[in-house]
Amino acid sequence: MTWRFLATLDRETLLVVTAAVTLLTSVLLATFSRVVPGEVRGLRYWVASFAIYGLATAFRIPGEPGSGTGTFLASGFEITANTLLFIGVCRFFHQVTPTRALAPFVALQSVWLAYATFVVASVRSAGLALAVGQAAIPIAIGVVAWRSRSRERLLSGCLLGAIAAWSQAAVVIAHTVAMLAPLPALAARGLPEKLFLAAEMLLALTGAVAMVQVINERTRGELEFMASHDYLTGALTRRAFFAQLERELARAGRSGLWPALCLIDVDHFKDLNDRHGHLAGDRVLKSLVTVANDCLRTTDTFARYGGEEFLALLPETTLEEARAIAERLRAAIEAANFGTPDAPIQATVSVGIARCTADGRSLDEADRALYAAKEEGRNKTAVFGG
Ligand code: GH3
Ligand code: MG
Ligand code: MG
Repeated sequence: MTWRFLATLDRETLLVVTAAVTLLTSVLLATFSRVVPGEVRGLRYWVASFAIYGLATAFRIPGEPGSGTGTFLASGFEITANTLLFIGVCRFFHQVTPTRALAPFVALQSVWLAYATFVVASVRSAGLALAVGQAAIPIAIGVVAWRSRSRERLLSGCLLGAIAAWSQAAVVIAHTVAMLAPLPALAARGLPEKLFLAAEMLLALTGAVAMVQVINERTRGELEFMASHDYLTGALTRRAFFAQLERELARAGRSGLWPALCLIDVDHFKDLNDRHGHLAGDRVLKSLVTVANDCLRTTDTFARYGGEEFLALLPETTLEEARAIAERLRAAIEAANFGTPDAPIQATVSVGIARCTADGRSLDEADRALYAAKEEGRNKTAVFGG
């Protein structure tokens, strides 16, 4: 059924559809750069790659395959499109483009293609020259996409991209084999060529879907990060903190092991800003988050509550343990130099600690403990009710 259906399609139709799909994909990807916040690395290469591939395909529509200069130019466009796609994929996934291997490879392929077309005028040899790159580069693209896939989500754009790229390589190899050693029954009906063109069209479409998906996943991840992390310090935002607190309280409600909450406030921060400037103050807040994250356990959650105030959630922690952790944090901040060796900047914090239960009073209680720590002279830790 499929065979007969394919036999009725003419190569022009297949090429027109493929050219249209790839050119539209190029436009679609170009619009992405406007709707997606920030810059998508490598996107420009993808836009150019699809546009050139679309033009190369359109170029092949009028002539018979394998006729002289036209085919040479179309093949040159295909090599360029493939190379740009690979560079774009490397850039998108923050991989170094292996230029030292890529440049000689593309140069050799082009020379071979020119030699085969113009010197020995061999359609087979020219086809082989093109096929080597059209198979090798998608294999490399597939490897980069496969390596960049997320471990948590199996069905991702990366996986789809890797499958599309490797399928593309497989189709090219199969087509080359069919070209070099044709099965007479199929060749007579032009099926290898049509199968190849139909597969190319489907894979161009699949590749486009994979690209849209990886951009989508990347953008979503970045937006989620921006919503849950403070811009200045990189600490969690209070919104993310309270979401985590809710999860922790639900867990503690079942286990009976309640977390502790610390409210941390930088002492005399206004004075620090006045003495060293706001930028230095910003740097202190940033470094303080690093010091705090080094002091806390991986299961603890640290967030910026606002201004120079921070929150720490210590799961399954008694008040005594929390006091020890808070004391370690206070001492580490006291010992840190937030300036340079030549112009040191010291800072201290006061910490209020409270037990966290489902009654929702822990933040107020930590705040009252913090007030007590400030009253005691600052650079102190205090436990509510302790
Ligand atoms: P205390 O020991 O009583 O906590 O004194 P304090 O000066 O730290 O408290 P106060 O609430 O009077 O001042 C907090 C200061 O923190 C005022 C504000 O300008 C500064 N601040 C808040 N957010 C930022 C920030 O993002 N960057 C900088 N550089 N300063 C900030
Ligand atoms: Mg404050
Ligand atoms: Mg303060």
